[in-house]
Amino acid sequence: MFQPAKRLASLPTPATIAMAARARELKAQGKPIISLALGQPDFPSPEAALAGAVAEVEAGRTGYPPIPGQKLLLEAVAQKFKRDNGLDVPVSQIMVCNGGKQAIFNAFMASLNEGDEVVVPAPYWVSYPLIAQMFGGVPVEVPCREEDGFRPQAEAIAKAITQNTRWLVLNFPNNPTGAILERAELEAIADVLRQAPHVMVMSDEIYEHLTFDGRHHLSLLNVAPDLADRVLVINGVSKAYAMTGWRVGFACGPEALIKAMVKVQGNSTSGICTLAQGGAAAALQEDMSGVIAMRGTYERRRDMVVKALRDIKGLSCAMPEGAFYAYPGLKALIGKRSSAGRLLSDDVAFAEALLEEAHIATVPGSAFGYGPHLRLSFAASDEELIEACRRLKVFVEQIQA
Ligand code: GLU
Repeated sequence: MFQPAKRLASLPTPATIAMAARARELKAQGKPIISLALGQPDFPSPEAALAGAVAEVEAGRTGYPPIPGQKLLLEAVAQKFKRDNGLDVPVSQIMVCNGGKQAIFNAFMASLNEGDEVVVPAPYWVSYPLIAQMFGGVPVEVPCREEDGFRPQAEAIAKAITQNTRWLVLNFPNNPTGAILERAELEAIADVLRQAPHVMVMSDEIYEHLTFDGRHHLSLLNVAPDLADRVLVINGVSKAYAMTGWRVGFACGPEALIKAMVKVQGNSTSGICTLAQGGAAAALQEDMSGVIAMRGTYERRRDMVVKALRDIKGLSCAMPEGAFYAYPGLKALIGKRSSAGRLLSDDVAFAEALLEEAHIATVPGSAFGYGPHLRLSFAASDEELIEACRRLKVFVEQIQA
């Protein structure tokens, strides 16, 4: 009988993926499910991306691509770093991966030894600790406080760092809270890192263009260029360009690390689909008007959803500064029973009851290391969001005292 490898024994399916699969299943059974579980833009990919993919076919570039990426895309990524982040990066410090997730996987596989610690501010995107654990890494959580806008405090990061720390993971704008780090906060973190020269930084900036109320994303490298030899920036076209299914992410970092990551990728998936690379290059080379229009829509939906959530007695909801998730707190409702009698013992039970009884798929905050909360993606249509908020209100109002 098949026995999974030991390293898989305690590895769960990421809660985001598991909830989305559950929602799909129930939908297929005819249930009127609204899925706000997966962070996935509801817009079509840009026309330019489609044309870019077709151009690859027409040019006959359908053979194995180079492992680090095709020249066209590597150069488009280098130009993107210059245009969006003011960073001059040679293509030798860039690689293209099968989504941002594979960039993270490559980096941890290329660098972690058994027992190496990975400091992750919580709430965090589910996959950082899970991937680190696959390679013997030990996640060390740094709890952020809602009163601090879910931003990690530099002193708390300093306290979490030991001689065994290999990585600090920063993901701002943050999934799931939408928190953004300001210059002063990045400077304070940079100071901590200068005292800990053995620590590398994984800066996942996949939501960089999704910032609201006129805010702009700053990269750690903008405030601390002296740390360039230990910062790995992760990004991709999925979120900003509505290209989740194309699976194109990229990483930019010190050459030796990129080389090691290329070695990992060369022994796993090899290079990324040439059509997808052509499409991603074309999207990156376009002007930003499409991205700006989508950002405007997300901002409008954020305002609508947060207002509706704040109108529900028993929920609290901070205003997300970026990304496309609302992250309401459930403290006042935990321990009570749903109208169908389900005990809402924690946010997992709450999300389960909400799915079964109100047919709304969300992700429990505890999957992001910070409960009791729920993550709701507002990258969904206005109609779905309005109906989901209506159902959620009814669900909460019917909770038994
Ligand atoms: N970033 C997406 C989310 O948080 C999921 C992408 C994935 O897990 O591959 O919903």
